[in-house]
Amino acid sequence: MVQTRRSTAASAPPTLTSSDSFPKCSSKRRKAVSADESEHTTKTPAQKKRKKTEDEPLTEDFPVRVSSPWKIGAHVSAAGGVENAVRNAAMVGANAFALFVKSQRKWDSPQFSAENVNAFKGRMREFGYLPKHVLPHGSYLVNLGNPDEEKRRKSFDCFLDDLQRCEQLGLELYNFHPGSTVGQVTKEESIVLIAECINDAHKETKYITTVIENMAGSGNVIGSRFSELKGIIDHVEDKTRVGVCLDTCHAFAAGYDISTKDGWEYVFSAFDTEVGLSYLKGLHLNDSKAALGSKKDRHENIGLGHLGIATFRHIVSDPRTRDIPLILETPTFEATDIWTKEIAALNCLSDLVEDSEIPETELSLVNEITSLVRSHAANKTEKASKARARK
Ligand SMILES: [Zn+2]
Ligand SMILES: [Zn+2]
Repeated sequence: MVQTRRSTAASAPPTLTSSDSFPKCSSKRRKAVSADESEHTTKTPAQKKRKKTEDEPLTEDFPVRVSSPWKIGAHVSAAGGVENAVRNAAMVGANAFALFVKSQRKWDSPQFSAENVNAFKGRMREFGYLPKHVLPHGSYLVNLGNPDEEKRRKSFDCFLDDLQRCEQLGLELYNFHPGSTVGQVTKEESIVLIAECINDAHKETKYITTVIENMAGSGNVIGSRFSELKGIIDHVEDKTRVGVCLDTCHAFAAGYDISTKDGWEYVFSAFDTEVGLSYLKGLHLNDSKAALGSKKDRHENIGLGHLGIATFRHIVSDPRTRDIPLILETPTFEATDIWTKEIAALNCLSDLVEDSEIPETELSLVNEITSLVRSHAANKTEKASKARARK
């Protein structure tokens, strides 16, 4: 028989799930953990005593998460309070998560209350998430590379406010898009402006690491080349507080062909040479609707785009991507069951023995993702046409 699972999985107890609908791998595999048996957490007496109320589900109502060195999760909603992000992550079986710490499309949002902060920290402990596996995402409005001083100042204030919010929540990482020249200066000039903002923000915060995301490369946007990311880092004074998050869709659209194992190795070693592996603080796991080198930032669900499922298999089984947040930013059509499937599929892939065939069960998870995407997309179209008809 051809062995398809890593040998460590052979001796591990079977995967446990608290729900029949929670997707399973093709064979028994590594140990699963419930939140209260995670690396650093035990239930507090207060949590043990807690009684279930209508809108307050118990920890054991959530799916039992797979225990894996690869921390796979998703960018979840924080609607209704930042603390809700933790539960939304747990609900899809995520071992890492991203969130917006304020509205990503508004300059100002109310500050967190003490209740928000306490509830967030309490749920982090309750569900066993570590700060190093949480990768908040910055506002889309911010452009630290804008040569217009007033506009850059506005961006900086919003950026700094986000960083301070992260520190309030006890988080360690903050991921943001580097910025754009807006067509008015050279990329080199913008790169210096971005680094200056990072330096100023480091001085006004205590410990948070600013994590620069690679971009797809359209127009005046900075960060599609590794050399540009390195350019920013070169000008950052405290190099212990700067890192990089690699988005797989953006990298592919920018011309880095990670679709094959050899391609991934080549690109990863280029990253190591040009930037340095020690700066890698997270990955965004997105398939790409657009072709290699298209410069188009169009995220696709896992296995359904130009990258395909085999690409993610070599990414989520690479020892160098262990213990950092690996975050899905794939379309959900306002439902989260697609993420549950995607996370399950990726966890299964990370457990396969190198160079073995991808088993039928994992491939069928991709088919399940496809049918979910199709049905949610059809629902969304139907809802939109009904809404139009009502007008
Ligand atoms: Zn991003
Ligand atoms: Zn991204």
